[in-house]
Parts: sequence; structure tokens; C-alpha cells
Amino acid sequence: MSKTEKQDGPVAGLNTRLSHGPYNPAGYHGFVNAPVVHASTVLFPNAGSMRRRGEVRYTYGLRGTPTIEALEAELDALEGSAGTILVPSGLAAVSVPLLAFLRSGDHCLVVDSVYSPTRNFCETVLKRLGVDVEYFDPSLGADIKTKLRPDTGVVFLEAPGSNTFEMMDVRAVCDAAHGVGAVTMLDNTWATPLYFRPLEHGVDLSIHALTKYPGGHSDVMMGSVSATRETITQLRETQMALGINASPDDVYLVLRGLKTMGVRLERHGASALTIAQWLEGREEVARVLHPALPSFPGHDLWRRQFSGTSGLFSFVLAGGGFDEADAFLDALQIFGLGYSWGGFESLAVHANLSDRTIAVAPAEGPVIRLQIGLEDVPDLQADLERGFAAIAALKGNRHAS
Ligand SMILES: *Cc1c(COP(=O)(O)O)cnc(C)c1O
Repeated sequence: MSKTEKQDGPVAGLNTRLSHGPYNPAGYHGFVNAPVVHASTVLFPNAGSMRRRGEVRYTYGLRGTPTIEALEAELDALEGSAGTILVPSGLAAVSVPLLAFLRSGDHCLVVDSVYSPTRNFCETVLKRLGVDVEYFDPSLGADIKTKLRPDTGVVFLEAPGSNTFEMMDVRAVCDAAHGVGAVTMLDNTWATPLYFRPLEHGVDLSIHALTKYPGGHSDVMMGSVSATRETITQLRETQMALGINASPDDVYLVLRGLKTMGVRLERHGASALTIAQWLEGREEVARVLHPALPSFPGHDLWRRQFSGTSGLFSFVLAGGGFDEADAFLDALQIFGLGYSWGGFESLAVHANLSDRTIAVAPAEGPVIRLQIGLEDVPDLQADLERGFAAIAALKGNRHAS
């Protein structure tokens, strides 16, 4: 066996697996990265093979290319899934599986701390199609059975919850959902498959905004859905019926991002935890919402199910409202004000929780969400101190007038 041939070695560590994913350089002249194939037409050798196109590996650009296959295979290896589809955004990775597994008249249970645009899809498209959407408390666990009905088609989870990071007992919810034949989906964007593998906890479909850590550089949008053997066919058929796939250059950026995701996440996670602990000790902060902090209500659930934390968490200001939140954000010089996360750069936003009905906004003050990037922690702390100083100045001005 030559050095360029792939061997089935012992199960390797995460970073080794990311560096030597299932893509085999020997299958493409030894080039260490997967080829970027731009394609619509694929030529068939003769009419017979065209007629029997089900037997041919590649038939049309939309239906798969070596580039798309390389990323799908990487994600299958990381998620332990039977198949993965790629879509042009994280939000499409939410909408396509919901469309694949729900029909008019079905009941759909969605965790209340879900990513806001997911809720918007449910409230608009799903309701218009006649789906009965109901939201549930992230802390329900096995008690989800009180909400399940014979016509519940899908139970949609996100762990931890968006912006407020509520943890849930994934296995208990999925086991109960399967009891009525519902399909379970989980938005796994925060943990990435490095820190949580949903299919090992009873989830049927694991959803990612690859836009975040897998891309890692704030320059690409993509989503993926990784499925079990029982669900992949219906998912794939719906993807193809809708005519959705991902562009080769974007797929390449995600393949490239995955190579360094392990080391980036270690840094994001460690810096975020340091800053979260530091914020816990500040009088300007009422609470820090970070699953790895022992003070966080979902901490035990996180420890039991997850093997790490990424760089996104929130904190609750001790008092104040929009003016204090704006003063804090406007004083920041390193943290950018922008949506999304998972890139190299730190970001801050005032989280809007106005759509919540059960997991409602904390009462103490505004929720500031931080994406901790790859910068040096002391610089980020100094920046956050500028924010706190601006709030103090605002209070001082009010007091003086
Ligand atoms: C960002 C995000 C999405 C959507 O991803 P886009 O690529 O921005 O469409 C979905 N779910 C979660 C949890 C996210 O944070």
C-alpha cells in the first residue's frame, strides 16, 4: 500500500479526523484537498447509460458532485449519520426538513427557546400549510409526553436554546416523541458535531448552520442536515423536489474551514469561559447565561450530554433597558455589532426575546449576547470595561440632570 492510499486506521482523535477526513487524496491524483467541481451537465457515455441513469454515480450538477459529496461525507463522519444534505443557509437547513416531514393537519412541537427565524418559518409558512404549531418549555424533558398527540409529526429541538442557552434532556424528549411516531430534529449549530452528536441521543435529523464555526470566517453561508438511515431518503427526495443544493465554491470554503475547526473551537471555548467567569464577578452583571458555568440552571444537563462549549454566550445586565444596552454596545471598539457568529471576530448584540411565550426574557435587565472570537482575552475584557464605563457615565448624567 502506497503512502497516498487511505487506510482504515484506529478511530482517531477529533483533530486528526478533521485533518484526514473521509476525502481520499489518492482518488484525485494525490491532491490533498477535494476538487472544486463547477457543474450542471454531466455527459453520459451512451444512450443506454442515460436511460439507466439510476445506476450512474453523477447525473446532473444539482444532484451531486465530487465537491458536494466530499463535504457530505465529512459531516456524516462527524455526526455518525447515514446521509447529509447541503443547503444554501442554516435557515434552509431548518425549513427543508420541516417541509420534508410535515403534512397539512399535522401537529408540530417546537422548543420555545428556538432560533427566531425558525419560529418565523413555523408562524408563516407552516401555519399557512395547515400545520398546528405549538411551542414547549425547554425544561420539559420526559414530560413532553403531556404535549404529544397521535398526530404530532415533528418535535423540533435546539440545544442549548438561542440567546438564553436553556439546556434540555434530548434523550428523554426524543424517546417520548418516538413513542407517538414523531420525527425528531435538533438544531446543533452551537455545539458543532465536535461537542454534541445528536443522533446518539435519539435525534433523527441534526441541523447545522455551517455559516458559523464550520465556515469560521464570516464569509460563507450554508446549512446541512444529517439524517438517520430511516429518514435520509425522504429528506433527500424533498431536497431534490425543491431543487436545492449548495454552490461548489461555498462548499470548498466550508471544507477548508472544517480543517481548523477543532483548534479554533478550543480557543473560542476557552476564551469565552474565561470571560464568562470574569463577568460573573462584576456588579454590572445580574447573571451570565453559559452552560459550562456551575451557576447556570442547565449546567448538569450540559455536562451529561455535551463534551465542550463554543464561544457564544449571553449575560444579563443588572438593571436598565434599551438606553443602557445601546450605551454599552456603542462604547465597544473590538467587538463588532453584527448578526451571526462562529467567525474569527468578536461580536455583540442586544438579544431580542420578544417572540418568546414560555422561556421569556430575564426580568433583571437587557440580555447582551457575545460571540468571543480569536482575539486576546485581555483586549476583549478591556473592551467590555469600556461598555460598562459607558453605562456608568449614562447613570451619572441622569443623576446630575
Ligand atoms: C445562524 C443560525 C441559523 C441560521 O443560519 P444562517 O446560515 O444564518 O441562515 C440557524 N440556527 C441557529 C441556531 C443559528 O444560530
